[in-house]
Amino acid sequence: MTNIPPAFSPETQPGPVPQPVGVRSLRELIEHVAGRGLGPLGDLGDAGVAEALPFPFLAIVGQLEMKLALLLALVNPAVGGVLLIGPRGAGKTTAVRSLVDLLPQSPRSLCYYGCTAEDIETGGIDAVCPDCARKYAQGEPLTRSDRVRLVELPLNARLEDVVGGLDERAAVHERIRLRRGILAQADRNLLYVDEVNLLTDEVVDAILDAAAQGIYTVRRGPVSATYRARFVLIGSMNPEEGKLRPQIMDRFGLRVIVRGLASPQDRLEAYRRVQAYLTQPRQVVLDYNLDSAQALADIQAARDQLPKVILSNPVADLGLALVQQLKIDSLRAEITMFEAARAYAAIDGRDEVIPTDLWEVAPMALRLRRSTFMADFFTQQGVEEAELATIMNQFLGKPPEK
Ligand SMILES: [Zn+2]
Repeated sequence: MTNIPPAFSPETQPGPVPQPVGVRSLRELIEHVAGRGLGPLGDLGDAGVAEALPFPFLAIVGQLEMKLALLLALVNPAVGGVLLIGPRGAGKTTAVRSLVDLLPQSPRSLCYYGCTAEDIETGGIDAVCPDCARKYAQGEPLTRSDRVRLVELPLNARLEDVVGGLDERAAVHERIRLRRGILAQADRNLLYVDEVNLLTDEVVDAILDAAAQGIYTVRRGPVSATYRARFVLIGSMNPEEGKLRPQIMDRFGLRVIVRGLASPQDRLEAYRRVQAYLTQPRQVVLDYNLDSAQALADIQAARDQLPKVILSNPVADLGLALVQQLKIDSLRAEITMFEAARAYAAIDGRDEVIPTDLWEVAPMALRLRRSTFMADFFTQQGVEEAELATIMNQFLGKPPEK
């Protein structure tokens, strides 16, 4: 229970404590809780609700694929982020913000530039700042364990805020220093970008480049600094409000189409939970307290399990055949699919990916990958190549024997 933030401590509010449900996998837990009605809430008086208790992730009704995608990204950052696509009011933002219940522990750098011992192991001693190189040599730790955080990009963020810029306060003292931007703060965290289709191109490009490289450099006049930015990118967009450039779309690993709830019973249950949350947020959070703690423990266990999970060649061949049959060009399709399948297996407590895992994650990894532009382009190009060959035949004669 040590990982539960203060808001979830049983001392914060007396009331009925739900019993653990004894489920085996995270998926079962999500399904179980999503189908359970809200517990008794006592009288629904106004609890004076100015506090910011997030709506419990597990209390979101339905939306199984959205929940799975977000949890897979928490378990394995290598899935390459999540894009939630759907109309306003379908619960995208609520779901992302609700993840704060479930954020696992991760090693966090003690250094301003985000240096870790891992950097030295992969890139040598020059991969870290001089300060950290000295610490490493003396056997001092470069990181400590800390909870992953949810960093939200403000809607009006400028490039300067995103990558960082000159620290004006420091400049007053005749020393030029750079201020860390949002991307550096997002290192080892989740970065949530709402309305990603409405950001300016330069901001989106900066975010996607950092997400792809895990590192970025800022230059301002004579000073420059390099920051780590290894974050899980979560974007959401309403397609009614503007398209996303295809090259941006390709950079998101998992894609989920979020629709409103279809069944009247689900809608009624969702309405009940939201109303209960609006009047008695503490009580609702408490009602999901044990399930949330269980889910968090499962996520942490899956993260620990992940390095052991292997993808055998026969299963990989099945996935590649799928990609080929769908005529998807981007290599990110299979990278995402395989990494998501490994996370899915880890959540299930296995150390090997099985074909069923592909069945679960393939739609999220592969949808919206087929580019009609590229398909048309190749068809057109085929026509031109044939024409070229005919004309060359006409004027140059038969092609030389090879
Ligand atoms: Zn350092």
